[in-house]
Amino acid sequence: MPDFFALIPAAGSGSRMGDELPKQFLPLAGRPMISHTLRSLCASPRISCVFVVLAPNDGEWMRHDWSEFSGKLIVLECGGATRAESVLNGLKSARVASSISDNDWVLVHDAARPCLGKAQLEKLMDELADDEVGGLLAVPVADTLKRSDTANRVERTESRDKLWQAQTPQMFRYSLLVEALGRTGGIGMTDDASAIEALGLRPRLILSDARNLKVTYPADLALAELILGNL
Ligand code: C5P
Repeated sequence: MPDFFALIPAAGSGSRMGDELPKQFLPLAGRPMISHTLRSLCASPRISCVFVVLAPNDGEWMRHDWSEFSGKLIVLECGGATRAESVLNGLKSARVASSISDNDWVLVHDAARPCLGKAQLEKLMDELADDEVGGLLAVPVADTLKRSDTANRVERTESRDKLWQAQTPQMFRYSLLVEALGRTGGIGMTDDASAIEALGLRPRLILSDARNLKVTYPADLALAELILGNL
């Protein structure tokens, strides 16, 4: 039986937050944001090990106490210039640092999604455990979609039929993900599934909900705090 591993790319600078501190370390409900992300993944007994990928010049991680996760956490200081590069570097280092093998599942989860619920995580693993390709949590688009011109005037309304917002975790077999990211280089890709799609494969969408939001802008922090208080 394949094992489950999680990998958190956490080497971004979070420039859209407009803060000096990379967003994964911003305080959220009294703790660095990434510690909530780690808690949700480390709490699952099905996940053998959680890798965190930091920027080689990270100066923040060591300022905090991570002892509650010891035994399950492996820190890899090999982040790259893009998210895809951080994930690929992390996967390669994980092979050296752990017992992960080709057929094992890897759940790649953004550090900036601190509100992942237990039910969503378990559902992803349950529904994809026998899948040939793998897949991701996602939510059908609820809003009406407008495409704009360069002056922010509506050029046209897009159909939202069969459109989904991709979330993380995104769950694929170790060797397939390494091959996909290695072949495509992840150029212009903002998630892992895009690299799998570029191989001609079709990841499965697993219905999630809006609570698993990605903290991107300052206003998202207050929302994330509210959600964490009600998970
Ligand atoms: O910037 P964005 O929100 O898309 O980042 C998604 C995730 O990818 C974050 O957890 C961020 O830290 C990570 N990332 C990374 N290496 C980069 C850029 C982003 O690990 N070079």
